[in-house]
Amino acid sequence: MRAGSPRWVARAITLVESTRPDHQELAQRLLVELTPLAGKARRVGVTGVPGVGKSTFIDALGVRLTGEGHRVAVLAVDPSSTRTGGSILGDKTRMARLSADPAAYIRPSPTSGTLGGVAKATREAMVVVEAAGFDVVLVETVGVGQSETAVAEMVDTFLLLSLARTGDQLQGMKKGVLELADVIAVNKADGPHEADARKAARELAGALRLLGPGAGGWTPPVVTCSGQEGTGLAELWGHVVRHHDTLAATGELAARRRRQQVGWTRALVRDRLLARLAADPQVAEVAAAAEREVLEGTLTPALAADRVLAAFARVTAGPSRA
Ligand code: GDP
Repeated sequence: MRAGSPRWVARAITLVESTRPDHQELAQRLLVELTPLAGKARRVGVTGVPGVGKSTFIDALGVRLTGEGHRVAVLAVDPSSTRTGGSILGDKTRMARLSADPAAYIRPSPTSGTLGGVAKATREAMVVVEAAGFDVVLVETVGVGQSETAVAEMVDTFLLLSLARTGDQLQGMKKGVLELADVIAVNKADGPHEADARKAARELAGALRLLGPGAGGWTPPVVTCSGQEGTGLAELWGHVVRHHDTLAATGELAARRRRQQVGWTRALVRDRLLARLAADPQVAEVAAAAEREVLEGTLTPALAADRVLAAFARVTAGPSRA
């Protein structure tokens, strides 16, 4: 795996994705071994609404980067995807050139259900690919819901793909995605759309300047690009590198990654507590009864929560089954 064998990378990721307790134990032992080898990649999140051109873009950017000698891993976070319907993020058929590139590794989003579970698997997959020598990790996510925040919390640089249509920009602003973005690209800036894309980029840049610089004095640059034509990608990647280097030079990169680790720890505690709460039949019974009373208006939500937690405390006071 250290030599970057795709077969072993795939097996290791399958292991970290598995929810079987014995697999999980083995996976954690593997991750302890791999963690010292990881951490040297540029971690870049790529988001944008479905249809914005993410897979076309990642395909073009990825091939460009492998052409420069980089090794590129593509991971994905999309809890809504299923293997039966809809397009799967990180699906190899959507990135035809990159999936045939020996210097690239593409892994579709795990489909284990909850966002917490998917995010955990992707974070751990990131350790695996970094240990295997991939120096660029692109994490793709859809521009809807909580997945973007989850990805922003696992990458160094967050790239937002947008379209020239103002509706998309406003949508992005509404969801607070603009606040997460470190670099913004108005995509599909080709053919008849090029002028509109440039205009949209100028307007967006103006709006961001009014907002003032974000954390670390960084104002997200706004560029135009076309994944289809491969134009604007060099400039865009230049901004990603500049953002990364700025973070590294000020010590913010290491600090940010440490904060992400602490955040991840808290998220795991939260997820596991909730999972154990949900898994215990006694607690579930108390919870169902309490919820019925809340519905009937005979119990306040706060008292209901107290009752559920008290039931949980009683079962955990017994012999530990963790
Ligand atoms: P995703 O859902 O965000 O991954 O978007 P896709 O990459 O699957 O692209 C969605 C549609 O937009 C497809 O029909 C692509 O052919 C088209 N498309 C993708 N990138 C570009 C681009 O740079 N320019 C133009 N004109 N069309 C594009």
